[in-house]
Amino acid sequence: MSSIYDAVIVGGGVIGCSIAYHLAKQNKKVILLEKGSVAGKASGAAAGMLGAQMEFTCNDPLYPLAIKSRDLFQTLSEELYRLSGIDIELIEEGIYQLAFTEDEAVLHQRRGEQDQQSGEDAYWLTASELFEREPAISKKAQGALYLPRDGQVSPKKLTEAFLKSAIALGAEVREYSEVVSFIRHDNCVRGVHTKRDAIFARNTILAGGVWSSELDPTLEMVPVKGECLSFTTNRPILKGTVKYKNCYLVPKKGNRIIVGATSIPDRFDENVSFRGLFQLMEMAKEIVPGVVDDQFEKAWTGIRPQLRKGEPYIGEHKEYEQLFIAAGHYRNGILLSPITGIMVAEEIMQKERQAFANEASN
Ligand SMILES: Cc1cc2nc3c(=O)[nH]c(=O)nc-3n(C[C@H](O)[C@H](O)[C@H](O)COP(=O)(O)OP(=O)(O)OC[C@H]3O[C@@H](n4cnc5c(N)ncnc54)[C@H](O)[C@@H]3O)c2cc1C
Repeated sequence: MSSIYDAVIVGGGVIGCSIAYHLAKQNKKVILLEKGSVAGKASGAAAGMLGAQMEFTCNDPLYPLAIKSRDLFQTLSEELYRLSGIDIELIEEGIYQLAFTEDEAVLHQRRGEQDQQSGEDAYWLTASELFEREPAISKKAQGALYLPRDGQVSPKKLTEAFLKSAIALGAEVREYSEVVSFIRHDNCVRGVHTKRDAIFARNTILAGGVWSSELDPTLEMVPVKGECLSFTTNRPILKGTVKYKNCYLVPKKGNRIIVGATSIPDRFDENVSFRGLFQLMEMAKEIVPGVVDDQFEKAWTGIRPQLRKGEPYIGEHKEYEQLFIAAGHYRNGILLSPITGIMVAEEIMQKERQAFANEASN
């Protein structure tokens, strides 16, 4: 039997690793279990956009959370670098949402006004203003909504930096260690069974991405497969991220551009289809025509974890005490990872304070 931990975390994606980091920061004794390798699933496949304004309108219930999470990245990147030595490659050059038709231009301008009214930066750029900033964009564009505060990171490095920082603060990690069930006592969860042993903990956190429903079938998870590709250029062609319809081009360090992403519901397979590649290449060419002369690098897939009801589940389980769920972040797990880690750590700390106060008053 292992020693008792304050928290056992199931899943080494960006969500599990952020929770490990935020709990370790509170001096909690943490162990994270990952059935494969850390950042080996959706978190390693993402494009890394921090699209708080791009993804959510100001009427969306997740908008305030998304903005808050995005705005944490600057401090977080310094904090994680100090602890782990990993640069998460935060790029704050904004996101351009392109308009190719008059109707799209009107919609984007309206969107920009709404964001401004809610206190966020958002600017409509005319075609000439856009080409002055980003000359590689197709001259068919009529303008763009520019969201200067929506940035991007390397999702793999972010996940690794969370984990390495958690380890620096005392957390333990076991890769290739699959959790097969929870240890239950009445309506309370006391840890997990792996294929090899039992791990006892005061708190258990399920952050298993789309596979979370294997351990908790009450979570109605929908896998949404996404395909991406990347190419390299011999000169910088974009400064900011560019998005049109459901295609984006994200310029990474070292003249690398990620093009994403297809969206295929109810698919768990990790094959890259010819159809997917063709679709992405056609769209990339429409947005930045010059890409046809650049060097194809690679293509990959990931499975986005979507809950059928839409929003992510962050908090204590409705039936089981001491079991916390952090799953269903769908297209925005990278963006929402800092706030999710903070929310779960705060809820656990709050419950502990409450239990302590109850004991003291008895
Ligand atoms: C193509 C693509 C592009 C994306 N682009 C963006 C983007 O630009 N910005 C953004 O914010 N988000 C983006 N996303 C979404 C983002 O990647 C996800 O929301 C996020 O990675 C989910 O993180 P997670 O930790 O919940 O899941 P995952 O990264 O899938 O991690 C879950 C982990 O749990 C492990 N696990 C599962 N069950 C067990 C078990 N029983 N025992 C032990 N371990 C277990 C799995 O092996 C896995 O490693 C994108 C996703 C895809 C696929």
